[in-house]
Amino acid sequence: MFIADTHADTLWAMGVAHRPPEELMITPARLREGGVTLQTLALWTGPKGNRGPVGEIVARELAALAELERAGLTRVEDPREALGSVEPRILLSVEGGEVFEEGLHTVEDFRRRGVRMAAILWNNENAIGCSAKSGEKRGLKPYGLAVVREMQRLGMAVDVSHLNEAGFWDIANRTDVPPMASHSCCRALCGHCRNLSDEQIRALVEGGGYIGVNFYPWFLSDDGRADAERVAEHIDHICQLGGAGIVGFGSDFDGIEVTPGDLRHAGELPNLLAALGRRGYDEAAIAGIAGENLLRYFSRIP
Ligand SMILES: [Zn+2]
Repeated sequence: MFIADTHADTLWAMGVAHRPPEELMITPARLREGGVTLQTLALWTGPKGNRGPVGEIVARELAALAELERAGLTRVEDPREALGSVEPRILLSVEGGEVFEEGLHTVEDFRRRGVRMAAILWNNENAIGCSAKSGEKRGLKPYGLAVVREMQRLGMAVDVSHLNEAGFWDIANRTDVPPMASHSCCRALCGHCRNLSDEQIRALVEGGGYIGVNFYPWFLSDDGRADAERVAEHIDHICQLGGAGIVGFGSDFDGIEVTPGDLRHAGELPNLLAALGRRGYDEAAIAGIAGENLLRYFSRIP
């Protein structure tokens, strides 16, 4: 089965936080154990946003990526290149549009480096727009809209996880290519500001976008208690809104300090497949959610 995960902060954990290998939720061995075919790893711009040393952080994360490549993981520039692979493959993404602040040419620079998707916001306001966490009602800044259109022109998926609602609707209503949410849950099931409303989910369904459901317990349940069953409930909710063909996994591994008790690392992903099976999803439906939906999303964006 082609299993894909659209978000993890392993490069930060390795290259910047210097977490020891035994504490990492994603390692080559754990990806193999979990049968993961395509693991997205983000270049996160860091907790201080553009007030921090973004260039230095990204350089350290790229060094961590090189370390993983030396350990035998191969990188792809398009999820479809990983199809049929028995070995885990890596897809590089960005989390934080601060990397695009110095001019539109930076989008092409990162695209040339193999970045195929980018979250334009983390929790800090930047030159592109405002975060969900900020509570800001302003939409994308003019420069932000230009960055989004440049990403779309270059075939870089626009990732709306962490973006505020007004910014989301600017992309949905004012641009032509469907965005994705690489690691987001459902607000109808957990009231966290980072989660997607049903209206946003319906817009992603109608536009042909994509949602990777996050495994962070505080995004899954108001009381912070969650297991693989609870992740399956969020997936189920998106399916009930018509999203059976646009939903998948966005673990946030190595970016979260707690996990569901039965999804502690990439090696435990089969527990989530089993939970979907217990909810009545057949093998074809599970294969769609596990990875084929992501392949289809990338076929929809030029
Ligand atoms: Zn994140």
